[in-house]
Amino acid sequence: MIEVGELKEEVKRWAEKVGVSPKEIHMRKMRRKWASCSSKGRLTFSYDLLAQPEDFRAYVIVHELLHLKYPNHGKMFKALLRVYLQE
Ligand SMILES: [Zn+2]
Repeated sequence: MIEVGELKEEVKRWAEKVGVSPKEIHMRKMRRKWASCSSKGRLTFSYDLLAQPEDFRAYVIVHELLHLKYPNHGKMFKALLRVYLQE
């Protein structure tokens, strides 16, 4: 279990790697999703993510950050997701 501040730090570290700058990073209870991303660059993560292992957190975080560049799950999106998570 990590804390909210630690998760936000992880998001910021990944944002630097991915080369995006989320306008806001929020956390709240979410029922059916781990995270969401608004078209205005606002990211929201589920509190449940705090209890997930590091590699799963990375997957969710990078996924949302890539949506700041690519709104869909197209070829580029999937290719980059793989590249970042392999490191
Ligand atoms: Zn997505």
